[in-house]
Amino acid sequence: MVLPCAATGTIFLRHVHVTFSRLNDRRDDMPLTSAQLAERLHACGVEIARAGADLAARGWTPATSSNFSMRIDATHVAVTISGRDKGALTPADVMAVDLDGRALDPGLRPSAETALHLQVYRHEPDVGAVLHTHSHNQTVASRLFAPQGRITLRGWELQKAVTGYTTHDSALDLPVFPNSQDMRDIESKVDAWFGAGKPLYAYLIEGHGLYTWGRGMAEARRHLEALEFLLACELDLKRLGGTP
Ligand SMILES: [Zn+2]
Repeated sequence: MVLPCAATGTIFLRHVHVTFSRLNDRRDDMPLTSAQLAERLHACGVEIARAGADLAARGWTPATSSNFSMRIDATHVAVTISGRDKGALTPADVMAVDLDGRALDPGLRPSAETALHLQVYRHEPDVGAVLHTHSHNQTVASRLFAPQGRITLRGWELQKAVTGYTTHDSALDLPVFPNSQDMRDIESKVDAWFGAGKPLYAYLIEGHGLYTWGRGMAEARRHLEALEFLLACELDLKRLGGTP
């Protein structure tokens, strides 16, 4: 039997107790059966593991840092388990939580920053995947631009890789929020940005890394790759004495 991951439509094969057509016919507000939830969690785990291997190979997830998630349905999210090597993930390293962070399996502990993922899913119903990485460029740029509280990207062709931007002739604000070990501190800063009605597709945390997201894993990865590239360009311009 074939089931999709809710966020991306990725297909995989498993034995299940419902038919594909019945699943597709279900209304979005209908609760999933436990079998459906387990199958979708597994499908999300496959995609998250694939993304983790690629992002780790690029050096963006050092020392078990970083965390990834995908929406399972309207009220559940698949998120990496705390402390796992992000370059060697399997679906068994991904667990389900509800939008308040309660684990469906209370024996598992999600990534420490799960609250920041859930904040995005609660605020943005269309978001299907959230990626958080700790690359060198992200970390250095976050320190360099922290005093201004944001990096404004202007004039770069690759700004068009971010949904909603159709020309290089635009200003893309990437906020830099202060770091904290209390996720509520960071959540309040993100809430204030959302509350001001400003577009938000990503943010940096000072001395820490980047959060970005998309309607599915492909869009989230496109945003991550574009922003990583653009941050590297900004840092090189600074080194070379250019004017961003
Ligand atoms: Zn982190």
